[in-house]
Amino acid sequence: MIECYHSYIDGKWVQAERNFAVKNPATGEIIAEVDQCDEEHIEQAVAAARRAYSEWNALGPAGRSELLLKWSEILKERADEFARLETSQTGKPIIMTETFDIPFSIDNLRFFGAAARIMPGMATAEYVPGHQSSIRREPLGVVGLISPWNYPMNMAVWKLGPSLAAGNTVIIKPASLTPLTTIEMARAAHEAGIPPGVLNVVTGPGSVIGEALVKHPDVRMISITGDTQTGKRIMVQAASTVKKLHLELGGKAPFVVFADADMDAAIQGAAMGGFINSGQDCTAATRLYVESSIYEEFLSKLAERVTRIRVGLPMDPGTEMGSLISHEHRDRVDGFVQRAILTGAKVAVGGCRPDAPELADGAYYMPTVVYDVKQDSEIVQEEIFGPVLVVLPFEGEEEALRLANDTIYGLASSVWTRDVFKANRMSAGIQAGTVWINDHITIVSEMPHGGFKQSGFGKDMSLYALEDYTQIKHVMADLTGRVYKDWHYMK
Ligand code: NDP
Repeated sequence: MIECYHSYIDGKWVQAERNFAVKNPATGEIIAEVDQCDEEHIEQAVAAARRAYSEWNALGPAGRSELLLKWSEILKERADEFARLETSQTGKPIIMTETFDIPFSIDNLRFFGAAARIMPGMATAEYVPGHQSSIRREPLGVVGLISPWNYPMNMAVWKLGPSLAAGNTVIIKPASLTPLTTIEMARAAHEAGIPPGVLNVVTGPGSVIGEALVKHPDVRMISITGDTQTGKRIMVQAASTVKKLHLELGGKAPFVVFADADMDAAIQGAAMGGFINSGQDCTAATRLYVESSIYEEFLSKLAERVTRIRVGLPMDPGTEMGSLISHEHRDRVDGFVQRAILTGAKVAVGGCRPDAPELADGAYYMPTVVYDVKQDSEIVQEEIFGPVLVVLPFEGEEEALRLANDTIYGLASSVWTRDVFKANRMSAGIQAGTVWINDHITIVSEMPHGGFKQSGFGKDMSLYALEDYTQIKHVMADLTGRVYKDWHYMK
């Protein structure tokens, strides 16, 4: 029996006339049918969010905080169920959803539940004599949230947490490949007592309902995580209503290894940082720049380490890397590798599907390391979003920095060295929203995540995200009560 999931609008489950199938990419089986909404559903959801806005704001920071924390408690009670559902719709290993995706999502929500009560800003003061200036930090109103498929629940929380904490009401459109955990989160929000219309989930194609949300005149902000091309398209569409945007787009993170680095740590860091979530991570290590004196040794040790990554069925607790998100995406990833081979690149390991018969129907691709590639080649410059690392040599700090910065992206990066001066010089020079030193991927709710350059703008997590979902108002009050102010030259 295949379960049917509906959209959640104005506190009710709304059934659409048509629906679409959600598959388990690790097996190819259909696991759910989900409502295919249209523009009319967006109208209903926006109207509901507008109606709910006053009530949600009237709750104040403490009231909103209490409900967000209650919601996080319900998610915690259902964590195992969420982990299984996330694994079923994404193909990622259960060890990952149990230890990272779900607990980290809950931690993020708890952070924003608490942060709802903190609004930093400038002090009220007389910046002009006789006038008191104060800052109000206010919600924007109705906010549209568009989330991706790589970390469905986590990316939804990164948007829902700060936008709701700040006092906005929202419509979230999850990726069509992975809507299930977002819908279940709405069920938990309902149970927690979040009022009808505050949080609406509308499912269906981005090209239809995503666009309707972006163009809607009553939606004051759009936050999207996805492809850089999608972000550019949304910028154009949002122009007609001058919407605020929060864009978390593609990445092509450099991973710079100097000769003085701890080689074992760097190799382990590259395996974990490059192949986490089958490389479908915008911060994943993708371009490995290794100082020439250790390049050969690093490459052979990395290839050996990568052959030990356990690729398998996602529900097997021993599996370290599951399937990719879809068969189409697997073929796209393979296309990058095959085209690179045609132009002279060499494959140290991987570059193919697994042999195991039990994985034959899934969207699997073996962890792959490619070398002998040119800096300006497609495989080095474009986001592959799959389990493919490229390794290139460099000579000295200056060249390392030049190569690291030589892409259109700027989301994340890492530097591996024991030299504290070099590490800090590189951190200052790298054009990316995050620089890790002797690590790659670790993130925390308290610290921001977001891009430079064509990786987008706006921060996720941290108080910076809370600020992004607000607008600032300056209120200036005359303290003198005089008809003529000091600056009046018309007497
Ligand atoms: P998309 O950018 O197409 O999808 C991300 C989200 O945007 C989905 O919810 C999607 O809906 C929605 N969307 C798509 N088109 C529009 C539109 N015109 N207006 C409004 N919303 C829209 O990414 P893909 O799923 O196509 O993946 C393609 C590539 O994007 C990946 O290979 C990867 O390189 C990159 N990517 C990066 C991510 C990141 O974390 N930065 C996350 C996901 C992808 P729907 O699912 O219904 O199409």
